[in-house]
Amino acid sequence: MSQQDMSQHNTQFGNANALTIDVEDYFHVEAFSNVVSRQDWGNKYPLRVEANTERILEILNHHQTKATFFVLGWVAEACPNLTRRIVAEGHELASHGFAHQHANKQTAKVFKQDIRRSKLLLEDQSGVEVKGYRAPSFSIGVNNAWAFKELHKAGFLYTSSTYPVKHDIYGTPDWPRFKYRRPEGIIEIPIPTLSLMGRNVPIGGGGYFRLYPYALSRYFIRQFLAQTQQPFSFYFHPWEVDPEQPKMAGISLKSRVRHYLNLKYMAPRVEQLLTDFNWDTMYNTYQLREFESDEKSGNQEDSRERLFSLGQLR
Ligand SMILES: [Zn+2]
Repeated sequence: MSQQDMSQHNTQFGNANALTIDVEDYFHVEAFSNVVSRQDWGNKYPLRVEANTERILEILNHHQTKATFFVLGWVAEACPNLTRRIVAEGHELASHGFAHQHANKQTAKVFKQDIRRSKLLLEDQSGVEVKGYRAPSFSIGVNNAWAFKELHKAGFLYTSSTYPVKHDIYGTPDWPRFKYRRPEGIIEIPIPTLSLMGRNVPIGGGGYFRLYPYALSRYFIRQFLAQTQQPFSFYFHPWEVDPEQPKMAGISLKSRVRHYLNLKYMAPRVEQLLTDFNWDTMYNTYQLREFESDEKSGNQEDSRERLFSLGQLR
């Protein structure tokens, strides 16, 4: 998109915010990990992610909106046409890792293999460089900040893997709330929070967006934009627009409520969000191009792998 197109686009509904989709299937979620084994993925539990992602692509096309898709490597392998379609339709392709294992449950070595495998696969399939990464369940925090170093070394430009809230599964309540460069060299773009009575309230999407009435989410987003002067970013998952998905047995009440709450309202709410705010990719919204030149010169370690992934070296 040219500069001129961008500015026209921006003045229409205010500045752009980043729309993101974490492309995984319903059986990948952490809440189900004790009842679903890896062998069941796509077998005992049939694949629905491709159809659900295609539905999201159609909604985005209808609203003439571009987004960033953080695609799980496992999904890309199972649905090889999906990454190509995402890129062909002008969206940003990014990585959600390969096997949806929490980064805080992996050793540095396993994490490194997981992120590199996913990056190379996505790049080989799509023919474009993958610059962004999001950890499963925002699982980078105080105990595994080494993950940023591995991501930087693997050639990622940015990550969006921390959520500065208190939560039982994830959260870095004392970490920065806005885009910053990590000491490890990579750019981190935390999930948005609203500062309310001394607490960071989670307003970035997913389960919270299904829990709050739409008008409250819209109010929170407007408050965030007015308070912070920062772009907002929103995340959701293909399984969240799929009320017909098979119901999982043997899970806790808390997990059941979290996963299935208000699924039928999700697609119409996302459409309302696309109408009420202006959206674009992470790369465009957070103006990541300006960080790219120092990145390229400062990180030569993996240039061979990168060239290979771009198809220039075989
Ligand atoms: Zn995920």
